[in-house]
Amino acid sequence: MKSGLLLHACCAPCATVTVEEYARAGHEPTLFFHNPNIHPYMEFQRRLRALEEWASLQGIPLTTDQGYPLEENVAMLLSGNPRCAICFGERLAATALKASEAGFSAFGTTLSVSPYQDQELILRAGAEAGHRYGVEFIYIDCRPRYRDSVHISRTLGMYRQPYCGCVFSERDRYRQERKNVASKGIDSAPKKD
Ligand code: SF4
Repeated sequence: MKSGLLLHACCAPCATVTVEEYARAGHEPTLFFHNPNIHPYMEFQRRLRALEEWASLQGIPLTTDQGYPLEENVAMLLSGNPRCAICFGERLAATALKASEAGFSAFGTTLSVSPYQDQELILRAGAEAGHRYGVEFIYIDCRPRYRDSVHISRTLGMYRQPYCGCVFSERDRYRQERKNVASKGIDSAPKKD
């Protein structure tokens, strides 16, 4: 029999294969969207809508706190170094707290599929959050399935975001794009992937 697990979901593309991997490991995930790090607000809404559509089609339960405390979140991201450790810590602590309140004994995260995220920081943040709220952090390294997630999300016509989430990652993504365009001497709109 599968055991319930609260799965922090950063976005729909990452959820596609991580849900499969957690299920394969004997868990029955309920998705939890808590990502107030995503800027701007309409991008946050767009990612949430894409996840809601996919979860509904798959029949996977999804819960979200819909919180978007912009001022607190920017202040938090500016308060620590490295910024991503603060960001992972806040999101996984919120997930662990939610898991504890909702009666889940364990939680995980779809962040584990990304080859672009610091997985050591994610592991540490999850373990600390689990310890703080008395729920087990179950980490599954889903990076070998990253290409599958790209393929599935493209095939389904799913929204794929072009940057990680915070306003700093948005700046860095497009600043780099502009540098690449300038060095090639061509004009081009920013692309994702
Ligand atoms: S780059 Fe991504 S993980 Fe790092 S602080 Fe920004 S949104 Fe969070």
